[in-house]
This record gives sequence, C-alpha cells and structure tokens, in this order.
Amino acid sequence: MNTQQPLNNILPEIRRKALKKMDKKPPIHLAASWSGDDLLYSGPGRTIFIILPTPGCAWALSGSGGCSMCSYIADSPLEEVSSEELVEIFNVQFERQTKREPISGPTAIKIFVSGSFLNKEEIPQEAQKEIFKIINEYNDIEEVVVESRPEFVTEEVLRECCSLLKDKIFEVSIGLESSSDYIKKYKINKGFTNEDFQKAIDIIKSLKSDYKITSKAYIFVKPILTSEKEAIEDAVASAKYAEEVGVDRISFCPATIHKDTLMEVLWRRGSYQPPWIWSILKIIKEVRSSVKIPVIMDTSGFGTRRGPSNCKKCNKKLKNMIIESNLNQTIPEEFECDCKNRWVADVEFSEVTRSTTNLTKNN
Ligand code: SF4
Ligand SMILES: [Zn+2]
Repeated sequence: MNTQQPLNNILPEIRRKALKKMDKKPPIHLAASWSGDDLLYSGPGRTIFIILPTPGCAWALSGSGGCSMCSYIADSPLEEVSSEELVEIFNVQFERQTKREPISGPTAIKIFVSGSFLNKEEIPQEAQKEIFKIINEYNDIEEVVVESRPEFVTEEVLRECCSLLKDKIFEVSIGLESSSDYIKKYKINKGFTNEDFQKAIDIIKSLKSDYKITSKAYIFVKPILTSEKEAIEDAVASAKYAEEVGVDRISFCPATIHKDTLMEVLWRRGSYQPPWIWSILKIIKEVRSSVKIPVIMDTSGFGTRRGPSNCKKCNKKLKNMIIESNLNQTIPEEFECDCKNRWVADVEFSEVTRSTTNLTKNN
C-alpha cells in the first residue's frame, strides 16, 4: 500500500476485528448524557448532550470499514432499537440532566447517535417525532443539534424535522473533516466528496427562508499520514472552505486515538502522533482572524496520552485558554513555554512517518 491507494483495502479488516472483539451491551447501558457551558447562536448558554444508542453508523458497518480514526461504532448495540426504547432512553437521560440542573435560560440540546440522525434506518422517524415533542415543551431550548452524513440530508427529511420544532433552531452537523478530497479519500476514507457536502449545505440553505435551520461542519485536525505542518494548513484551509460554501458554524475536532482503528495501529507503531496543542492554538488564532462565523475547538482528550498535548507544564493552561476562546470567540493571548521549540522543530523539519509497507504486512 502507498498513500495513493484508498484505505478501503485495510479498513474493513480492522473494523471486522474490532466488531468481533466488542462486548454486546444492552442499549440502555450505552446511553449517556452530560451538560456544560457553551456558545449558542444567541450567546453564552448551556448545552445538554445526549448519546442515544442506535444500530450504528451505516458507513462504519458497510464494506468500506468506515473512517480511519473513528470507533463510535463501539457505542452501538449493533441491533435494531425500537422507537419506544429510544424514546424511553432519551427521557431517562433528559430527566437526569434537567433534575441535576433545571432548564432555565438559553439552552441547546445535542443528540448524538454515533452515526446519522437523519438516516431513518439508524433512528426511526417515530422516535424523532416523539423526541422533538418532548423538546418542544421547553421554551428555553433554543437549538436542537444533530449529526448526519450528507447523503441523508434531503429536503423531505429536513422539512419533516423542522416542522416538528416550532421556533427552535435545527442544526445539522456534518463531518466534513477536510476540504481536501484527497485527504478525505486517502487518509480518512470518508466516502463522500466536497461536491456531496456542498449539495447538502445547499439544501439546508434553500430552507432558511422557511425554517430556522443551520449547518455546522466538523473539521478533523491531523488525520493519519499527515505531518504537523500539513495538519495546520489543512485545518485552516478547511475552515475557510466551509465558510465560503455557506456553513453557519464550525467545530474543530483535534485527533484523539480511538481504540481499534487504523489510527491506533499507526500510533502503536510510532507512525502517528496526535497534534501538539501549539498547533491547535495556531489553527484557532489563524481561523479567528480570517473566518467570521462562530468557531469552536473541541478540547476533549487534551493533555492525555491519546490526545493532543504539549508538556505537563503547559497542557492545562493552554486547554483553559482555548475553552475561554470558545466561549468569547476571541483570539487567545500569546503564551510561552520551554516545549515550544520542540513543536517549532516538528512543524519545520519533521516529515510524516509513513510505515505503510509494514502496515500491509501486518494487517
Ligand atoms: S466519523 Fe462519522 S461517518 Fe465516519 S465512521 Fe465515524 S460515525 Fe461513521
Ligand atoms: Zn509546555
């Protein structure tokens, strides 16, 4: 294998092994929820996150093997979950959050299904309807955010969802990951192109006169087989592209190593490292100066072995600076630490390690 060949000759095998290892868990045990401060379209507020167990991402379960960095399929029961059960699970998680902190003031709700919310095979329409009915009871919930691959974004499905959500913003988040079709195909195995992404965004834009509908692009920072320098350049270029095609909001996802993925295989062999937090800081500074739409940088996994990191002295400080920058959308101030020189050297001189021959031998 070289980097000119698609990854779909090794990913299906990695996914097959991962699925074989998985302990089957009942859907109720796979649900989760939490809440926290967030930046809403109306300003600072609170977001409630709810993970619903659905049969799993159709792309990950297809013969393609799914995306090279993603193990969300491990959060799925890999079996059909009835509408009644999904609604019941949603209720339990939602009540847990509202009991902990009653809804008051600007609130968003993000429903993650470890795949595509708009795919009726993953979440039946009946369940969508019932969940939206529950959400509609709360005037302070201003935004309902779901995720979907672009192939499930159709005018019909969007109209159905929006008409159920009275005056709330309905946001569709799409994992664009990179504006480079080359990176999407040869480093992520994303299974769609910019053209597909743009089509979905155009459908969302065409409904803006009828509904409060918005779009968000997830951008992945540092796919496999990418140097530190390329990762920074690609993230910045992707944010500019997303704004140009009319996306309303951007969320960067810096790489963390998920279990049983090709990314993990490369990481274990010393052929991949998650990005430096310095790189993340550089991306956020450049993007905040050149892109006008709201941009959030996800900080999960920062400072851990499997996530973006610098050194023990500055990991926490920089993470907090980025969280603050997310909430007020300002450019983080200058900061120095001894480890910065090593990052500079990495960006300037290190080439990505591509032990691709080994990869084919051992998989
Ligand atoms: S990143 Fe999204 S599309 Fe890709 S395998 Fe994971 S859940 Fe599926
Ligand atoms: Zn440091």
